[in-house]
Amino acid sequence: MLIETDILVIGAGPAGSSAAKHAALNGSEVILIDKKSEIGAPKRCAEGVSKEGLKKLKIEPSSRWVTKELSGVLMKAPNGTSVWLNEEKVKLPEAGYILERKVFDKHMAMDAARAGAKIMVKTLATGLERKDDSLIVTAETMGEEFKIKAKIVIGADGPESRVGRWAGLKTTIKPKNMESCAQFEMAGVKMDDPDSIEFHFGSVAPGGYAWLFPKGDDIANVGLGILTTETDKSAYQHLLEFVENCPATQNAQPVELNIGGDPVGGMLKELVTDNFMIVGDAASQVNPLTGGGIISAMEAGLYAGQVAAQAIRDDDCSKAKLKKYQERCEENIGKKFKRDLKVKEYLLSLSDEELNSIAEAFQDIELENINTAELIKNLIKVSPKALLKLGKLF
Ligand SMILES: Cc1cc2nc3c(=O)[nH]c(=O)nc-3n(C[C@H](O)[C@H](O)[C@H](O)COP(=O)(O)OP(=O)(O)OC[C@H]3O[C@@H](n4cnc5c(N)ncnc54)[C@H](O)[C@@H]3O)c2cc1C
Repeated sequence: MLIETDILVIGAGPAGSSAAKHAALNGSEVILIDKKSEIGAPKRCAEGVSKEGLKKLKIEPSSRWVTKELSGVLMKAPNGTSVWLNEEKVKLPEAGYILERKVFDKHMAMDAARAGAKIMVKTLATGLERKDDSLIVTAETMGEEFKIKAKIVIGADGPESRVGRWAGLKTTIKPKNMESCAQFEMAGVKMDDPDSIEFHFGSVAPGGYAWLFPKGDDIANVGLGILTTETDKSAYQHLLEFVENCPATQNAQPVELNIGGDPVGGMLKELVTDNFMIVGDAASQVNPLTGGGIISAMEAGLYAGQVAAQAIRDDDCSKAKLKKYQERCEENIGKKFKRDLKVKEYLLSLSDEELNSIAEAFQDIELENINTAELIKNLIKVSPKALLKLGKLF
């Protein structure tokens, strides 16, 4: 069987659903496929998004998929010293709402369907070949193999993407750029402030950080990300130790385990080739500092969908035409990521003792209108190493 379409989107996570929606809204015939039988499940995410991010994407928060509205962020140094930032002051990313991703992802796919995209669930892409001015993707559903011929394929197949490589892009991620994450969703969690998210820094999570993201009542996502280049233990082993020692989880029990990679090395250099674009985690469009990628995946999806639809209208799906997508990503996402990557490198260079003294110094500073840039300016005030490593950035 051969199906033909203008645009085929592979992967119905936030990136793919956004790309499919915006391509369909701009007049293209779109098919969106996902290997999962239930879009969004299982989740591999702590489910935090910023209010600003949703606003920018013009997505109204819905009680169907927001489980918790947050009022602050608590940052903990290895010795337990806390720096608390409340909502009026915080403009940090991933610090506004906690989602129920299993519901959110489905709703984003529903929006794509309402915009006109055709959705095929439990449909796995297994290969891609180029034929004349099209790409032909081999797919499998319920044991049946078939082909989809598309003028443009958008690869949105997440952190273990294979589609980009099939199309000829360099998508290999070095271990030092891939955060290895493990997380429990737990009941019985007693947080210091159940309306704030908590970050724990230092040797609890070498190369990353640990988090507690409250989902209402006594429920929270409790997880961490590590770099395998910084520790001999697995993320899961670190998680077990964290849960055993963290005061908030002494009486907590897991109801779900999520294991997954998070590409934190900054955006891929090449996002397009003839008839092909790559978006979201597959393109490493994750904030290198926070590891958050929902909003950037959807923003990139929006640009990809719009640029792809324009290319279809102009009957030109060449790399040169699709490059507009790459330019918009570099301008609106990549520039900030480059700066955040430097901040991350600085944070990775700090010992537990240095983190403790920075947290202690921060307790005496009156912070106003906090965003990442403001935080770094204050870091520079209290840490000479920060001045050396970050001074030129701000
Ligand atoms: C533990 C953890 C915690 C995180 N916490 C946060 C957070 O709090 N906030 C935040 O913003 N980000 C967070 N992230 C990152 C966030 O989850 C991702 O950035 C986001 O899901 C990226 O969306 P995506 O659409 O690119 O990829 P995904 O959500 O991974 O979607 C990819 C889709 O492609 C499908 N697929 C893959 N291969 C194929 C194929 N061959 N054929 C068909 N379908 C295919 C998959 O089934 C999947 O549905 C976290 C990540 C991890 C691992």
